[in-house]
Amino acid sequence: MSDAPLPERLDVVAVAPHPDDLEILCGGTLAKLVKQGYKVGIFDMTSGEPTPRGSLETRKAEAEEARRILGVPLRINIEMPNRVLMDSPENRFKLATAFRRYRPGIVIVAAGRTPAASPDHHQGHLIGEAARFYSQLTKWDERFDGTTPYRVPHLVYVPFPTDAEQRNWHSTFVVDITETFEQKLASVRAYRSQFDDERFERVKHFISSTNGYHGFKCGYKFGELFALPHPVGAPDLVSLVYGSKPTAPPDIPVGQGHIPMG
Ligand SMILES: [Zn+2]
Repeated sequence: MSDAPLPERLDVVAVAPHPDDLEILCGGTLAKLVKQGYKVGIFDMTSGEPTPRGSLETRKAEAEEARRILGVPLRINIEMPNRVLMDSPENRFKLATAFRRYRPGIVIVAAGRTPAASPDHHQGHLIGEAARFYSQLTKWDERFDGTTPYRVPHLVYVPFPTDAEQRNWHSTFVVDITETFEQKLASVRAYRSQFDDERFERVKHFISSTNGYHGFKCGYKFGELFALPHPVGAPDLVSLVYGSKPTAPPDIPVGQGHIPMG
């Protein structure tokens, strides 16, 4: 067993291959979770480097600036290799070790296969799912740096909008990020080595369109899409349905919802 004291438990951990993936996919939700008082962590699987315009030092500084902008207290790097990231036992052990240390209640995994972007994204999806499972395994502590087995209770996917599979998730939901949308854009802007002015305008358009589209479907100005590996459980149908609406539904006459296309 490792003698190192365990860090404080986290409520939510988000994990993706490259620093900037999570800002683009769910930066608004991460900033909102922090505002709501949850303990949030970002786990980058790789440094994200090399890239054509970046370096290890600049990317690290940019990731730190983005972390500060989102207000997320903890960001760690799992130190897997960029560009050649593969779902392997060793990489599963590495990520599972971090789960066992920080014992998150929810793990958000960036999910999908992006044929026009890095293949690391798909591998990261697989590693995230496997590490979540491995984290609970007994009699293997030596593979996890002597940490104690920990079962991550909840897995949430944040899908890449360019996922080639266009998966039929068991269930999806949208988080209202209207209040933290500008924070999200600023966190992406921090990655100047990846997005010069022209590229930032393009990614900003992509983010605004995607978050505008997902938000609109639920009556929010901007929203981020998530998915679950199972149907949504509902102890109370009314609170589930009403709770997702931005205004109090009982005032809305039947058949005259405020969402034009809802
Ligand atoms: Zn990426």
